[in-house]
Amino acid sequence: MDRKRFEGKSIVVTGAATGIGRAAAIAFASEGGRVAVVDVNENEAQHTVSLIEKNGGEAFFLRVDVSSNAETEAMVAKTVERYGRLDVAFNNAAISGPPEFTLVDTDEKVWDKIIDIDLKSVFLCMKHEIRAMLNTGGGAIVNTASVAGLVGLRNRPAYVAAKHGVVGLTRAAALEYAASRVRINAICPGGIDTAMIADIKQVPGMWEAAAAKHPIARFGKPEEIASAALFLASAESGFMVGHPMTVDGGVTVQ
Ligand code: NAD
Repeated sequence: MDRKRFEGKSIVVTGAATGIGRAAAIAFASEGGRVAVVDVNENEAQHTVSLIEKNGGEAFFLRVDVSSNAETEAMVAKTVERYGRLDVAFNNAAISGPPEFTLVDTDEKVWDKIIDIDLKSVFLCMKHEIRAMLNTGGGAIVNTASVAGLVGLRNRPAYVAAKHGVVGLTRAAALEYAASRVRINAICPGGIDTAMIADIKQVPGMWEAAAAKHPIARFGKPEEIASAALFLASAESGFMVGHPMTVDGGVTVQ
């Protein structure tokens, strides 16, 4: 790509150690962005940084638990200290939690953990990011929800509730800050081939069956979500506000 949509921009990507976040961090940097690679997985996050540097890009690692108010506040402060401002945030870190638990069988501690990491984190990140963006005239935020933020899935009650919450929080925050030039949108991926869903590869036939549920007859690639996130974070989507954009191989069209 010869266009550099993010030249010199200061960008935070959470969950950037692996999967969608890594693909997005690499894509932002390849278009001139200076990227804070945020995760709890230091080894893999450092690897993301080295992949970016190998490409001639600029990035640094921040160890941040996104469910912590103090750590997300420090994440924004350290990014602003290093790059002078914050222009873009991709709030993408999450966990899926243990698979296949009905609501009745979901332990309260599991519920709290998933809600903290998948939903409270987006509130905390945006709280500190928006403040920084308002100080420098605006910015763009993209939150990773899921198709599980738009429709129900069986046996993942906390994840589904958290992702519906991310969509709702995106809409609420988008309304509050659109006129102040902070644009906030969400992305709703279908099944994407990352570590998050790798466990289903262990059950013979399950991967193929789950892929076949997508009208496009395959899982998505992390890069296909990254490119959508870059679009939502760029001026090309300048009139999009509070939108939960599906990138799901048609799974919610059926
Ligand atoms: P992934 O497991 O590869 O990436 C998630 C990253 O978040 C990991 O690097 C992990 O270390 C990090 N993380 C977890 N808890 C954290 C915490 N407390 N603080 C900071 N970082 C933390 O999975 P992925 O598929 O790339 O997931 C990225 C996003 O996409 C998530 O929000 C996920 O819910 C969403 N999503 C994934 C799929 C899919 O099928 N893979 C589908 C829809 C939505």
